[in-house]
Amino acid sequence: LVSRENHAERSVVRVGGVPIGPGTMTLIAGPCAAETPDQTLQGALMAKAAGASLLRGGAFKPRTSPYAFQGLGEAGLKILADVRAETGMPIVTEVVDARDVELVAEYADMLQIGTRNTQNFALLQAVGDAGKPVMIKRGMSGTIEEWLMSAEYVAQRGNLDVVLCERGIRTYEKATRNTLDISAVPVAQRLSHLPVIVDPSHSGGRRDLVLPLTRAAIAVGADGVIIDVHPHPETALCDGPQALVHADMAELAELVQALPPVV
Ligand code: PEP
Repeated sequence: LVSRENHAERSVVRVGGVPIGPGTMTLIAGPCAAETPDQTLQGALMAKAAGASLLRGGAFKPRTSPYAFQGLGEAGLKILADVRAETGMPIVTEVVDARDVELVAEYADMLQIGTRNTQNFALLQAVGDAGKPVMIKRGMSGTIEEWLMSAEYVAQRGNLDVVLCERGIRTYEKATRNTLDISAVPVAQRLSHLPVIVDPSHSGGRRDLVLPLTRAAIAVGADGVIIDVHPHPETALCDGPQALVHADMAELAELVQALPPVV
């Protein structure tokens, strides 16, 4: 279902009316996690001013340590919904448990499947039934074929509104949090008709790499990028070191403005 074999044209997925697909280079940006109403709104305004059309933000956070901030749950979803009402930006947010899909789908415009859950097949089937577009991160140790099979689980439930997101894979290299597999973008676009975007924030795990990796994503023909921003990353409860700050926004805006208009 997700292969280009029977579907030669590349697909456009619309999220709250915002297209992601061939020729769009959609900018999704916002805080890693919704922490407070003010921090989420400030992050959204930074993102919007730089040209983002979709707001990212986690309410359910999958963390390596059980002692780390796990997200605000439904309170975080409510904050995101308030910020959507104020900014007009549709929301992309993660769901980590099949039991929460109905709840998260009440608030989200696109459901995000994180790298740790890319092969959680019960969760993939549940989001496939939820009637909302789905974004699937590549598993940090997953092959491109496994990633496409994850999308197939969603598509099998009758939901073809699926976006693939390359977010870096685990390699021997320790200089970056993950290794951005930039070749995965054209490879996946040739194998599948689904849009393919890049997460330069979780790939590099470092603020200074986000804009260079965004340039790489644009150069290779990605259909969008998803970027962490934070008004005060020194106090962030989650992934502060990779969040773009106010001082980075002009350069991000310049990159986005240089892109051809969406047709
Ligand atoms: C995220 O985007 O908030 C996230 C946790 O990403 P990943 O699943 O790629 O680590």
